[in-house]
Amino acid sequence: MDTAYLLTEAKEYLRRLCVDIPTRRLGSAGNRAATDLFAGIVSSFGFETESPEFDCIDWSQDGVDLTADATSYEAFASPYSLGCDVTAPLLVLSSVEKLEAAQASGIIVLLRGDLAKEQLMPKNFPFYNPDEHRRIIQLLEAKKPAAIIAATSRDVQMVGSMYPFPLFEDGDFDIPSVYMTDEEGTRLAKHAGEVVSLESRTQRIPAKGCNVIARKGTAPGCTVVLFAHIDARLGTPGANDNASGVVVLLLLAELLADYAGGLGIELVAMNGEDYYSNPGEQLYLARNADRFHDIVLGTNLDDVGYYRGRIAYSLYDCPPDMAGSIRRTFSRHGGLIEGESWYQGDHGLFLMNQRPALAITSELLGELMSEITHTPKDNLEVVDPTKLVTLALALWDLLLHLA
Ligand SMILES: [Zn+2]
Repeated sequence: MDTAYLLTEAKEYLRRLCVDIPTRRLGSAGNRAATDLFAGIVSSFGFETESPEFDCIDWSQDGVDLTADATSYEAFASPYSLGCDVTAPLLVLSSVEKLEAAQASGIIVLLRGDLAKEQLMPKNFPFYNPDEHRRIIQLLEAKKPAAIIAATSRDVQMVGSMYPFPLFEDGDFDIPSVYMTDEEGTRLAKHAGEVVSLESRTQRIPAKGCNVIARKGTAPGCTVVLFAHIDARLGTPGANDNASGVVVLLLLAELLADYAGGLGIELVAMNGEDYYSNPGEQLYLARNADRFHDIVLGTNLDDVGYYRGRIAYSLYDCPPDMAGSIRRTFSRHGGLIEGESWYQGDHGLFLMNQRPALAITSELLGELMSEITHTPKDNLEVVDPTKLVTLALALWDLLLHLA
């Protein structure tokens, strides 16, 4: 199979995932179309596939109206929030201490400053979830405000380039909330104590999603697993994040069409990495609780096609001979470098289970996160399909070597 043919395939897959399907947000028809597409293609290359399902919600919104003293203020519904139509006094809060002391039942609270400095982890998020975040959520649920307005600035670490960013992105948190820029918050705060009106029109829609798991190889007790999350964040085409990783798995599936070796190979289109509660990861953990010991190497591909910079890989708890094989194999393929460690990705699932992991992303992940990831700018223009071909060939080489 020559690289020109693979390049044509890569472009075609990117087009199908990012143009034919306008959104892959979890719970949407596009998300289902993407998992069906993945399952159909890998099956055609002789992989045995299954698509275990989980519950999730889709969400839609139709704007926010916020007025105080006959003046309108610009605000946006928090993703996955319930809607509301409330007229009530405004209470402005900027610290946990103030929130602890507040009487907030039935009123509208404006959260600013320290309380709104970083996005709060969803209340039921099973992985990283700091005590300070849990405390703020618990206090709000105990105080029972009718609605929350959050005035935010930037939080590059958690939400990339979004300004303002939603303080809440949590379908399990039932106090209606909206968010606005910190400047708009400063103007609105002048109405503290006055009656304000807030209407937010949103809808939570019960839905289903699935992971797609594709297997090949005669010794499933000795398996290399490769993850790429197939969902995209609400409001982005998700071309680099992470149609790029999915396309590499599809190219790899074709390269492995005639594979009949002993090493088990499992390709996983993980679903819900960019959704508030990571339901696909939770389902994968639950279904594989007693077989993680079969995994000799867990690999995660995320944001691998960025047109600037090189592809960067990093190794986690790999035994020396495995690490040596990976480094030697990848050094034969131009355009791949060993980069910095990062821990926010799905390879965390392997590490939690003490399995060796290989993570692959862009060497310019910081630039991506602060400028492109999770925004409409993450479209086909920022993806270089030749990088996807390079990576698929390097991974193919590695798998044949390990087999
Ligand atoms: Zn991603």
